[in-house]
Amino acid sequence: MTDIYVYNTEARTKQKFEPIDPANVRMYVCGVTVYGNAHIGNARPYTVFDVLYRLLRHTYGAEHVTYARNITDIEDKIMNRAKEESVSIKTITTRYTKVFHEDMARLGSLNPDMEPRATDHLPEMIKMMRTLIEKGHAYEAEGHVMFSVASMENYGRLSRHSRDELVAGARVEVAPYKKDAADFVLWKPSSKDQVGWGSPWGRGRPGWHIECSCMAAKHLGETFDIHAGGQDLIFPHHEN
Ligand SMILES: [Zn+2]
Repeated sequence: MTDIYVYNTEARTKQKFEPIDPANVRMYVCGVTVYGNAHIGNARPYTVFDVLYRLLRHTYGAEHVTYARNITDIEDKIMNRAKEESVSIKTITTRYTKVFHEDMARLGSLNPDMEPRATDHLPEMIKMMRTLIEKGHAYEAEGHVMFSVASMENYGRLSRHSRDELVAGARVEVAPYKKDAADFVLWKPSSKDQVGWGSPWGRGRPGWHIECSCMAAKHLGETFDIHAGGQDLIFPHHEN
């Protein structure tokens, strides 16, 4: 079997790839947010990870590789677009998911083995937030659920951003419901005219970061081999 060397962002170097289970090699790729036509910068990472997917299939056997790539179908940009056109978010996400699939097919990309959608995972997200609150990694404030960055000792390990740098560089939004300026939103309240779901913290919608955490854990397990996405996702999305 040929050795595969993959660039590991955390280590900032190429490392020999050793799967957790060679009979079930698992890769999650952060998918597109469907609110408009994809551009070439969106297509690039999916093309790169398509090549990696093919190489993994070639090396371990097609039936031993699972590739999950999500569709982000709830996000403020989608909500804004739906409002502009006076249509439901479903109309927007259905339209641009179709366009995305057509574009990737034109580029000759293989389809992922699964394509989970964020809006199908609300119960999982609520469960994960409850667990985080129980463990002291998250807290409720004014209808929001916030992740407490200070509760996580190795926060910044992936992106090599320190909490102090973030705050000093004003890279984070200061808000009254945050205990710490670096804390980020897991759940936020929706007004009556905004799309929302019921939760123990009131009607609202999830933040982007918890969506991928839940979809990856549900479909690939709590730990898996590769979590990939565009380079611009290293911070804050992948760190968070
Ligand atoms: Zn993601």
